Amino acid sequence: MTPALFLDRDGTIIFDKHHIHNPGDVRLVPGVREALKASLEAGYKLFILTNQSGIGRGYFTWDDYQACNTRMIELLGLGKEVFTEIKAAPEIPGVPSLYRKPDPRFINEMVAKYRLAGSASWMIGDRQSDWECGLNAGIKSAAVRTGKPIEPEDASYLQKSEIPVFDDLPAFIRGELQLAW
Ligand SMILES: [Mg+2]
Repeated sequence: MTPALFLDRDGTIIFDKHHIHNPGDVRLVPGVREALKASLEAGYKLFILTNQSGIGRGYFTWDDYQACNTRMIELLGLGKEVFTEIKAAPEIPGVPSLYRKPDPRFINEMVAKYRLAGSASWMIGDRQSDWECGLNAGIKSAAVRTGKPIEPEDASYLQKSEIPVFDDLPAFIRGELQLAW
């Protein structure tokens, strides 16, 4: 069975410019390209799960969101198929949504569809909704410091839930997955 990394986008793979919608603003977190390449070579499937309430709020369109993904994939330079699937939840908080984190539906669907090894898979992100999402799906979660600052309440949640914290995604892949490049 295949292990997988479920990745938050903003604040994890690219820097979190609030409600980013202009492809010209897309900036990769340094080292992510090499780290994701090493993960793919080690046999991990990569997925993105991103909450994009800016669409539901009318701040930007699906096309704007897709253009940012296209730019991110271009900057990564690992081919168009680098991510097995990408899912965005466009709803604002508090309205019914199938996929908005921390709902684990996307992870559960992907685990079944691709026969993923849940026990060897991770959800990585910068916010509590990311960490909760992974735990809700029964996989492991990890935190990165490249996005929203980790507030005291976040820190207590991380400690209580025994979720490891890393400076960035490459540090997670090096430190937790023990991959080198
Ligand atoms: Mg984020």
